[in-house]
Amino acid sequence: MTVKHQGIIVHCAATQPDWMKGDSIQRQVDEITKWHKDRGFRTIGYHIVIGRNGEVADGRALGTTGAHAKGHNSDIGICLIGGFGSDADDIASDHFTAPQLNALYRTIKDLQEKYGIRTERVIAHNRVSSKACPGFRVQKWLAGEEVARNRTQPERTKPTQSKTVKASAATVAASVGTSATALSGMDQTSQYIILGFAGITILFGIYIMRERLKSWASGWR
Ligand SMILES: [Zn+2]
Repeated sequence: MTVKHQGIIVHCAATQPDWMKGDSIQRQVDEITKWHKDRGFRTIGYHIVIGRNGEVADGRALGTTGAHAKGHNSDIGICLIGGFGSDADDIASDHFTAPQLNALYRTIKDLQEKYGIRTERVIAHNRVSSKACPGFRVQKWLAGEEVARNRTQPERTKPTQSKTVKASAATVAASVGTSATALSGMDQTSQYIILGFAGITILFGIYIMRERLKSWASGWR
């Protein structure tokens, strides 16, 4: 029975950077095949394996069901050699070589074209399981938008910016409260003048909040 692949899931072998160094990619595929047979699979679970030097090797046949991600085995499984000790949101180049990542990119694009797979369906194993595998965010990497954790910018600045928005809301609320208290002890003319000022303050506050919300929202991407 032929499987129509509609997605691609990227994995890593979770091996040390120099694992089986000097052995051919085929020998490495054979080794992984042995692990998977020991786990009761009929053969290697991945459809494709990519070596440290960018070698692309066949695993189980394309068009057949894989054994690489529970509930998602009709997707193509690609395994990168390496990735030992990686976290789900590390960046790809922390754990994989440039030739390897170039080969991954080309392989993904070829498969997308061959099977008509949408880019949203090319994902990291960690998107469908609690594992760290493959040790980076595939969607971000594909879009060229990877940002390492704790290295300044985007994602980590979101909470701070949302606090700023809340703070400006509090400032507006406080100025309204202060004006209301002061008003009760004044004559008619002063009340009108103060109310006018309060109105301007509120409008200005709303304007600032709108601007901050806008920049906050654009920071989300
Ligand atoms: Zn995996």
